[in-house]
Amino acid sequence: MSTAPFESIAHFDGCRRAVGQMARVEDTRSAAGDFRAWMLKQPKVRYFESFDLVKVPYPTRYGLRNAFSREKLVEFLHITNRCFVVQFDTVEGLKTLLVSPSDHERNGETPFFRRLADGAPKLVEPLIAKRYTTAPEIVKAAGLRPEDIDYITYDHLHTQDVRRWLGTDDEPAVFPNANLLVMGRELDCARDLNPYQADWYCPDGTTGIPESKIIRLEGDTYLGGGVALVHTPGHTEGNHSIVVHTDEGLWVTSENGIAAEAYAPQHSTVAGVADYAKTIGTEVIINANTLENSIDQYISMVQELTIAGPSQRDERFPNVFPSSELTRFWAFPGTRPAFSVGHARHGAVTR
Ligand SMILES: [Zn+2]
Repeated sequence: MSTAPFESIAHFDGCRRAVGQMARVEDTRSAAGDFRAWMLKQPKVRYFESFDLVKVPYPTRYGLRNAFSREKLVEFLHITNRCFVVQFDTVEGLKTLLVSPSDHERNGETPFFRRLADGAPKLVEPLIAKRYTTAPEIVKAAGLRPEDIDYITYDHLHTQDVRRWLGTDDEPAVFPNANLLVMGRELDCARDLNPYQADWYCPDGTTGIPESKIIRLEGDTYLGGGVALVHTPGHTEGNHSIVVHTDEGLWVTSENGIAAEAYAPQHSTVAGVADYAKTIGTEVIINANTLENSIDQYISMVQELTIAGPSQRDERFPNVFPSSELTRFWAFPGTRPAFSVGHARHGAVTR
């Protein structure tokens, strides 16, 4: 196991320790404001681009916890999983990071999605799920070689199978120089799961990869050159958000919420969401397939929206780029979002 050669970030130390729950929210909001100001003074990344990987159905009752008013009629919504390629400067030179390179050819073994696939008629499947490309194809499309990838990271390890990318005794690594950046808490959980968690993790997704290729992070970390990984627990205990400084401000990526409007539900066009948020007085709608700690997830989403600041594309929404983004689909009426990030590209790739 490698130790991290990176700087740790102290902005959020102790901000969730207040006695009252809303005091924790406000302490974290204040720390996030300070952190945002600090990040905006750091250099911008050299290159950032998003790529659509796969579009899959996801239960509305999870994606928009209790807020979607047609839950009984419309059981599913669509989310698009994205992969991001980031290049940034460090003291050790230019580094290339792949964010969320899901191996969708293998992560169908995740128990929840296995049952979904087994229960769906085979004819319907191509209509419902859509595979756009693969992680190795994305690297090629960006003009890079597999050996150029220095790091891979995921906001959390649900459904992930990293064995092909990092290699095991049985198969060579697709990205031979890549190391996995992961929160220690997330890795420990993934290797000893409660049944409610296990339903969402790909069995043995990290088994057999060389320990020397795992860089274990123990909290908020600045990777250098405009990239930070911030521990944002809730969706999972070891969840983190990827914060990237670009020409379009700070992009913040995770799966704590599935749409920009999950962070600004008062502006949502999804059926029932704005009314629900107003009725219960919430400022976020959490992605709730696991409820490991929904209170912390709420705090984390306020943290994320504060770090992100307003979107330059539509200032009603924060500049969050969900790693799994709600995507309109005619067969799922009422799920059309008010705003989608879709795609972003900044700077130029260095080959
Ligand atoms: Zn997840």
